[in-house]
Amino acid sequence: MPNLKWFAAVGTAAVVTMVMVPAQQAASAPSNAAPNGVSAATTLYYDDSRAGGWEAAIAAGVATWNANVTNVKLVKAPSGTRAQIRIIATTGWPQASLGPVRPGGQGWVELGSQAVDQGYDKTRIAAHEIGHNLGLPDNKPGPCSKLMSGSSAGIGCRNPVPDAAERSRVESAYGGRPAAQAPSDGRVMVDAP
Ligand SMILES: [Zn+2]
Repeated sequence: MPNLKWFAAVGTAAVVTMVMVPAQQAASAPSNAAPNGVSAATTLYYDDSRAGGWEAAIAAGVATWNANVTNVKLVKAPSGTRAQIRIIATTGWPQASLGPVRPGGQGWVELGSQAVDQGYDKTRIAAHEIGHNLGLPDNKPGPCSKLMSGSSAGIGCRNPVPDAAERSRVESAYGGRPAAQAPSDGRVMVDAP
């Protein structure tokens, strides 16, 4: 009875597969706490679905932040899910709410085309405004080496990378235990020159 033997073999394989899949999911489930009891990196989701034309600049700005700090991680929100950082495109000057945005809270960023029309770099603008949501105020006037010097560094400045002091301030804002973290500031930072 060759057919029965074949069915038996397939049945065995199917059972093995069904057992293996949940086991792999369990093994890769993310942990909420580091072994030392201090909370692991805070993940903040951002929504750029209303930031048409800025997607590449936002992605580059986000990548810069993710490459330069470890206590907070920015992730594009899957469609239909709640984002802590809402990013929209406007025709005005770039502006943002001052964080640090927390997982239970919400901040916003407006990427204004008026700054682009004046010649300012889009990736630096996006990284700068996201910096506000991460708790960094403006630092103007300032050199191009500082991300939060914003427009004061001139239109020739294309640096989207926070300097050591800016990185340190964000790491502090998201480091330690959540109960000890400062609440979001909420002030509006307008980046008109
Ligand atoms: Zn600013």
